[in-house]
Amino acid sequence: MQEDSKERLEEKKDLEKKGNTKNNNGFNKKILWIIILLAIVVSAVVGYFLYNKMKDEKNKVEYTQLIRDIDEGKIGQIEMTMGSSTAVVTYKDENGNVLDKEDKANKEKLKELTKTAIIPNSQAFIELIQNKVEEGNEISFNPKEQNIIVTIGSGIITFLPTLIMIALIFVLFQMQGLGDKGKVYDPSVSSDKITFEDVAGLKEEKAEMIEIVDFLKEPKKYAKMGARVPKGVLLCGKPGTGKTLIAKAIAGEADVPFISMSGSEFIEMFAGLGASRVRKLFEKAQKISPCIVFIDEIDAIGSRRTNSNGGADAENNQTLNQLLVEMDGFETDGSVIVIAATNRPEMLDEALLRPGRFDRTITIGLPDITDREEILKIHSRNKKVSDEVDFKSIAEDTAGFSGAELENILNEAAILAASKRHKEITNEDIEEAVKKVTVGLEKKDKVVSEKDKKLTAYHEAGHAVVSRYLETQDNVKEVSIIPRGFAGGYTMYKTNEDKFYISKTEMEEKLIALLGGRAAEKIALNDISTGASNDLEVAMKVARDMVTVYGMSEKVGPMSMNLEKDPYQIQLLGNNLEDEIGKEVRTILEKAYENAQELLRIHRDKLDQVAGRLLEKEKINEKEFNEIFDE
Ligand code: ADP
Ligand code: ZN
Repeated sequence: MQEDSKERLEEKKDLEKKGNTKNNNGFNKKILWIIILLAIVVSAVVGYFLYNKMKDEKNKVEYTQLIRDIDEGKIGQIEMTMGSSTAVVTYKDENGNVLDKEDKANKEKLKELTKTAIIPNSQAFIELIQNKVEEGNEISFNPKEQNIIVTIGSGIITFLPTLIMIALIFVLFQMQGLGDKGKVYDPSVSSDKITFEDVAGLKEEKAEMIEIVDFLKEPKKYAKMGARVPKGVLLCGKPGTGKTLIAKAIAGEADVPFISMSGSEFIEMFAGLGASRVRKLFEKAQKISPCIVFIDEIDAIGSRRTNSNGGADAENNQTLNQLLVEMDGFETDGSVIVIAATNRPEMLDEALLRPGRFDRTITIGLPDITDREEILKIHSRNKKVSDEVDFKSIAEDTAGFSGAELENILNEAAILAASKRHKEITNEDIEEAVKKVTVGLEKKDKVVSEKDKKLTAYHEAGHAVVSRYLETQDNVKEVSIIPRGFAGGYTMYKTNEDKFYISKTEMEEKLIALLGGRAAEKIALNDISTGASNDLEVAMKVARDMVTVYGMSEKVGPMSMNLEKDPYQIQLLGNNLEDEIGKEVRTILEKAYENAQELLRIHRDKLDQVAGRLLEKEKINEKEFNEIFDE
């Protein structure tokens, strides 16, 4: 178990984050009201319908019975509307008299004698009665012309299912935000105005952004010079690196509104909507200009246009085309600046990056150690953090974390501190939060068999001992066999420098450390387990990147391929290349595994000692670990 779990967590959080934003802008109160209203209307209509039906039920006469009764001359009067499916019939009384309806005395009696009948075919029924009347049957029968209200009434009932469907579709549209596009954040009215002070680190990026703030503030100054102010700025960087934050900060600094929308919101299940949304978004932007339009995840619409005629692709192409049209359309007076964010710039259509569109690209990397410290400090401003908290050391332990993850860690720490009834957030709370976020929650109560415990102890000891003998690998900070998250145990390292380049030796040694777990199982227990599957997955990726991305293999040569972007690239380079890459990856992995076993064989005594100590204490820290080697 090594840093692979962090990647997974990153993904998970990412998903959660996306899920949340969808929820926030999609499912608002308005929709809830629409649904409630709809439910009331539906139940009222259905209730009314059922009530009438029940009322009719009591005084009903079967159609066949009615025909028989007509033949027998028992019926005095029939009232019905043309085209209706019911008729009201009034029987004669026991003496064969037709009672006078105007006479109040007959009221009770008439109620008994009046019945309704369901008429299967009103046209045929009307003809039948008219024939009877012509034959001499004394029925007073005057079919009424259809009355509009009744028609609409029965229409509603007939079309109720359709109406409900339409209403549902309407609600769905609303949920998708068909009506109003783009959330507006106006720093001049918002209480939580975001400025560059809220953005930690990113010094160079901020410097570039200051220029844009100036364009928005004083567009005339640039127009006079004849300078072409950029229309679009593309921010590239992993999720959570602060792209949205910096775009908001620009709006805050320039004191202009900020309209945001996510690329995925343009892509909907209803064709043609994407393009119209783009249009609406820009219409709105022009109305409230000067302003910033922020399009998150632009890769969702801005990926390369394709020639295929699949529906989704065609829709995508249309949306992208509309975006290009809009970007070309508005004046370059600096009053509307489009900022887009993506973490996959290589996927974007080249047309988007042409001058006059997104002609500036700013790459935002993961924060380095000083930036991490600053981010932690910024986000602890509104939290009760103890003075003894060492932000620097936390920054050291969190290499590779994004700003969003760091914020999350402080939040988790606050939750932990509260649940433990601490007065303030302590260093331990934060350290615990880091572990919780990287390897998951500690499961102290989980029952682990002695056999599994031994296996985990040797596996983790394997990672730790091997790393200890590898020059380039980080120092061990903690080894534990208490299950956490999905892992049976973990080895935590102390990363004390942010590296810009990684050497080949370092990557090879990283592989040895990754495979140290499995090697230890093999050597000490002469068996191997599924516990190493994550390690193997990461190792495989490292080895493959060494060969195909960093060109570190002698046999394959100094070559860099992005096979995800262009799977056909490999074919250009000859038929045998794939085989050769496979062979090289395998050789690299096998060699690393050999080396790991070799190291553990030499230091078998240390392996046994670390594993033994783990079985005894379940968790050993840096000091305890190093003591074993000082002996
Ligand atoms: P992105 O748009 O790149 O996915 P966000 O801007 O949404 O990332 O960042 C998410 C959160 O992470 C922000 O709201 C902020 O709280 C925190 N964050 C990220 N980077 C920084 C930073 N450089 N300084 C301060 N906070 C940051
Ligand atoms: Zn492992």
